[in-house]
Amino acid sequence: MEARRRETQPSQPLKLSKQLAFDDDATKASDALPLPLYVTNTVFFTLFFWVVYFLLTRWREKIRNSTPLHMISFSEMLAIFALFVSLIYLLGFFGIEFVQSIIRPSSDMWADDGEEDDIALQKEDARKVPCGQALDCSLPAPVAAPSPETEKLPTPKVSDEMPDPVTTEEDEEIIKGVVAGTTPSYSLEAKLGNCKRAAAIRREALQRLTGKSLSGLPLEGFDYESILGQCCEMPVGYVQIPVGIAGPLFLDGREYSVPMATTEGCLVASTNRGCKAINLSGGATSVLLRDGMTRAPVVRFGTAKRAADLKQYLEDPMNFETVSAAFNKSSRFGRLQNIKCAIAGKNLYLRFSCSTGDAMGMNMVSKGVQNVLDFLQTDFPDMDVLGISGNYCSDKKPAAVNWIEGRGKSVVCEAIIKGDVVRKVLKTNVASLVELNMLKNLTGSAMAGALGGFNAHASNIVSAVYIATGQDPAQNIESSHCITMMEGINDGEDLHVSVTMPSIEVGTVGGGTQLASQSACLNLLGVKGANKDSPGSNARLLARVVAGAVLAGELSLMSAISAGQLVKSHMKYNRSNKDAAKAS
Ligand code: ADP
Repeated sequence: MEARRRETQPSQPLKLSKQLAFDDDATKASDALPLPLYVTNTVFFTLFFWVVYFLLTRWREKIRNSTPLHMISFSEMLAIFALFVSLIYLLGFFGIEFVQSIIRPSSDMWADDGEEDDIALQKEDARKVPCGQALDCSLPAPVAAPSPETEKLPTPKVSDEMPDPVTTEEDEEIIKGVVAGTTPSYSLEAKLGNCKRAAAIRREALQRLTGKSLSGLPLEGFDYESILGQCCEMPVGYVQIPVGIAGPLFLDGREYSVPMATTEGCLVASTNRGCKAINLSGGATSVLLRDGMTRAPVVRFGTAKRAADLKQYLEDPMNFETVSAAFNKSSRFGRLQNIKCAIAGKNLYLRFSCSTGDAMGMNMVSKGVQNVLDFLQTDFPDMDVLGISGNYCSDKKPAAVNWIEGRGKSVVCEAIIKGDVVRKVLKTNVASLVELNMLKNLTGSAMAGALGGFNAHASNIVSAVYIATGQDPAQNIESSHCITMMEGINDGEDLHVSVTMPSIEVGTVGGGTQLASQSACLNLLGVKGANKDSPGSNARLLARVVAGAVLAGELSLMSAISAGQLVKSHMKYNRSNKDAAKAS
């Protein structure tokens, strides 16, 4: 089987592109139908069964009345005609589908005739491509000549730079070792020294172990070295998420094209509409109120009195210099701002807040906190450090402390939308928007006991921008805290709209930001990497853009709800007839 794989290897990209062409270009009869497929199918099915019933009834009557069968009335002629028409339709539709389902697997160039294991897997999983071959799903290499700009970007290593992932007997041995459990899957990168090969082998072993195909999950076209020890362990491929662009968003006198990675239809279109309304009204303005990442360890003492002693020590301004010297030595960029203490019995929670340059800063603040705890141990030897994070930080959980005190960047973004724009672009009016905002975002959220959720859908925009720009999507929780305010101004003619977001946690260095795709999106916004002249200003600008995009998203969704368009537009963008036909 290995030999056969080697033989077929050179022509596989061609075969794949042929297969893709087959899949994409195959014109179905249903494409020509004027109505949605399910409507036509229902009509012909009903017609067919009704006509059959009618003819059978007529036949029975003729036999009872001894009428000759060849004496056909006009209605019977019509029924016979309808029978033929519906039969031709149903045969044409389902017959072709059936024949295609038989022909397709045999036209699949990768169909295996070989090993028993593979056959068993195919049976179990009913997949078209056997395990090993699923690894060879090379994507066609891009042919466009690189522009000077794209040349500068880190490009993922493509398949022709590396040996074929699973072709050798040695690989086969390693796969067997992983399947048998003698070679730990996590050790493959270190053992092989080639991250792509490690991913391919792990993927194959996983498919054999689970009997499930990963053939839709791409392996090729990704730089596996770039995530090693940073972003993801034990990779077997990557998920593709489309990136749409909302904008330009006119914010603080500059235009931004906002990248949004999402699979939610309507979201980008809606945010784009909000951007248009903002632009036509002269743009939005943002203010950054604070910038500090937090980490709060929990420490325990023998008595509440001792816990209070440490609280008093840390909150005394006289000691701040000493403590911050210990904190700041961990990084050039991490600078201690303050420590907020809270006591629960004899346990003390120390919420350290620090500036972190262009990094989102979790690692940076944690290192600083560790230094301070080590330092404090000298004066407070009875302090028992229970955890570097005691949830008073609070990371990736809804918590009032972030809503009230802020975490990461606290930003307010506002705009004055002209009454004319509200009517023509947003298709509603100022009074309706103000009323809806009061009853939905403020009162409705209060009734629901919301924590930071006084908005329509801030998390939609935050998540999409976060995924596109390599932020930690789990921090969407506190980053989406937002209160949306709307007020009629100029005698109710124009709309003042604002979003206040106290805990936007973003960075332009570290984590997923350095990966090729995410870095390209940051580049589009002009905030890629570290800002050499003014460390921290790239991350702060990104936070302002997030708030600006949220402002656009809030405006548009609130308008759609106010104008009663929400369901209609979702049906248009989320449930197109084309998609429904394809799915069926
Ligand atoms: P995080 O703290 O967000 O997890 P990392 O610790 O992974 O981020 O990345 C921050 C790293 O980037 C640190 O090693 C820091 O020294 C380096 N760095 C370089 N330039 C900057 C900058 N302008 N701002 C912040 N960090 C920077």
